[in-house]
Amino acid sequence: MKTVFLDRDGVINRNPPNKGYVRKWAEFAFIPNARKAIRELTESGYRIIVITNQSGIGRGLYSEEDLADIHSRMIAEIEKTGGTIDAVYYCPHHPDAGCECRKPKPGMLIRAAREHNIELSKAYFIGDVPTDIEAGQRAGATTFLVLTGLGQESYYHYIRRTDQNGYRPEKIFTNLYAATRWLLKNDS
Ligand SMILES: [Mg+2]
Ligand SMILES: [Zn+2]
Repeated sequence: MKTVFLDRDGVINRNPPNKGYVRKWAEFAFIPNARKAIRELTESGYRIIVITNQSGIGRGLYSEEDLADIHSRMIAEIEKTGGTIDAVYYCPHHPDAGCECRKPKPGMLIRAAREHNIELSKAYFIGDVPTDIEAGQRAGATTFLVLTGLGQESYYHYIRRTDQNGYRPEKIFTNLYAATRWLLKNDS
């Protein structure tokens, strides 16, 4: 089964301003065509797994229960439009905690691969920041950068600097829907 890992903030939903956090459902806003992209991936037989850093929990800004509520509503909205999310993995830890799950570490992808029997070399990871790209590449997946969320900033980062520890996205797309169109056409 084909697998696409998706970062959440900046890929599925808008990043709150000033690098803020989505603390409750009222602050969650889908990016245009993100649900349509997930529906088309689902219809084409892709398994879709969300991989998200949520250090707002470790920072005390919202709770695991708040996050579970956001994710159950997000999944319900996606299902209403015909898409499926197979699993959500999140890192709740503060950046200083030194955990193994927070991106750019590949821990969440490796765990998801183990739990869902995924061949990472055939999987894709779509994200909007360099830490997504690094995590995906360290896990052995093909990585795509999207220009939604913090993607434009990330894009200039890649243009200006060549020292991203050698991690660079395989392809760059305007948004998740454009990445999806490419996958459905080219990923056989
Ligand atoms: Mg993001
Ligand atoms: Zn963690």
